[in-house]
Amino acid sequence: MSRVLLALLCLGIAANAADQTSIVLKAARMFDGKSKALVQNAVVIVQGDKIVDVGSNLPVPDGAKVIDLGDVTLSPGFMDAHTHLTTDFSGNYNERRLHELDLDVSEQAIKATTYARATVEAGFTTVRDLGSRFVASREFVDVALRNSINKGVIVGPRMLVATKGIGATGGHFDPTSGFRDFLFGREPDYTDGIANGPEEIRKAVRFEVKNGADVIKAAVSGGVLSLADEVDTPQLTPAEMSALVDESHRLRKKVAVHCHGDQAAREAIEAGVDSIEHGSFMKPETLTRMKNKGTFLTPTLMATEWIMSKIDNYPPALQAKAKAAGAARTEMFRNAVKMGVKISFGTDAAVFPHGQNAKEFKLMVDLGMTPIDALKSATANDAELLGLVQKVGTLEKGKLADIVAVPGDPTADITATERVSFVMKEGKIIRNGPPTPQTALKTEAAEVAAPVD
Ligand SMILES: [Zn+2]
Repeated sequence: MSRVLLALLCLGIAANAADQTSIVLKAARMFDGKSKALVQNAVVIVQGDKIVDVGSNLPVPDGAKVIDLGDVTLSPGFMDAHTHLTTDFSGNYNERRLHELDLDVSEQAIKATTYARATVEAGFTTVRDLGSRFVASREFVDVALRNSINKGVIVGPRMLVATKGIGATGGHFDPTSGFRDFLFGREPDYTDGIANGPEEIRKAVRFEVKNGADVIKAAVSGGVLSLADEVDTPQLTPAEMSALVDESHRLRKKVAVHCHGDQAAREAIEAGVDSIEHGSFMKPETLTRMKNKGTFLTPTLMATEWIMSKIDNYPPALQAKAKAAGAARTEMFRNAVKMGVKISFGTDAAVFPHGQNAKEFKLMVDLGMTPIDALKSATANDAELLGLVQKVGTLEKGKLADIVAVPGDPTADITATERVSFVMKEGKIIRNGPPTPQTALKTEAAEVAAPVD
């Protein structure tokens, strides 16, 4: 063996040994993701990328590095089951729409790296990214973002991405809807996520998986931020939905559907989708079906909240749709909580500026959810929906060390989740103290893609 090789090997061993130094996190309290109450005098022992022990008043192993975070509550890293990290459409709708026409997709991809950082620094260590498309472009910016994070090139949350999102011609996801016919030189097809009929839907699913999709997203009803449809009309037939679910599940991908309307929701639940996103107009009978089938509801309360607070930013037709959906979703969400429908935390980040995801917690609690259940929705529930229960979602021995700290007691004041002070992802400290100044992460409102919400 050459001396150089031997030296390299020794260095490797030394580096490995250094990696294995335990980090002990101490905190006044802990939410472990599964218990009904907080654990006092919490200790979490991390080695490498994993949690090796967790409990109350545990002894500190020899040689461990102790980080005493004081009067905070530890939690499993938060998860957001509904984001769009490659865009930001929180500003003026028409300005954004005009900007789509001169948007440089590569520049947008670089901007997206700041959205990813803002999200993980806010305590969201895992996200599901439900749709990334740029009109007349075939770039997969979400796949590139996910891969760059996984390779350590940039800092961001673990991402499960959906690529384009599948929908019908003229439906919520059609990127050319509302523009003059043929402005972009061709009618969108399955390569844009636009498909009609069961066979084309299967082709679109296969195309997306081929290009890196971890999860399949489809629009089965109209939406708020699209110009050529009604918010609650069904947009896929039951036969198309069955093909969508069958093909996705055969390829071991979950199916998330954008759906405001009640009829579309009933048909989607029947077809076996894994989650209903938004669900604004769902009636109690539909919620009962969801509960019986174990379908998750991702309420995205923050999206409606943001649009209603900036209503003048949207054209009159969209204002009317937003008001109708906003008025309906309050009762729908209260009913879902009362009936015990499985609720996955998801915000639709991009409709509002990235990094404000945690504001969803207070909205959930204000509408009748207990703080512990709200925290569970963003940890254990999302881990179940995303198929990651073996890896994340609880603070338990053997899980990846995705850990955040919030000041005080979030069960007494749920807005503590908006003031995350410590973030660890896979054993690496992303931040301990103030976040990167927002000036460096400026998320400009006018940069974007076609409607995805
Ligand atoms: Zn969305």
